[in-house]
Amino acid sequence: MPKLKKKTWVKSKKIIVNVGSCKFCNQEMTNEDSFVPIGKVIRGKYQYQNAHYDCVKQNHSQLNP
Ligand SMILES: [Zn+2]
Repeated sequence: MPKLKKKTWVKSKKIIVNVGSCKFCNQEMTNEDSFVPIGKVIRGKYQYQNAHYDCVKQNHSQLNP
């Protein structure tokens, strides 16, 4: 039986970064959450706010049933 070489990934430290609050539920998110940036142009400037992936999905289904 061949031995599979398994790399042991040692996470010495986790870096969790706050990425702001969700556009829809206003909960704080970190880079460990699955989120997507939602952008729009405001007065000629492109601005974006992050939102939970799930919240975006829910919102889209509400907008386009
Ligand atoms: Zn959310």
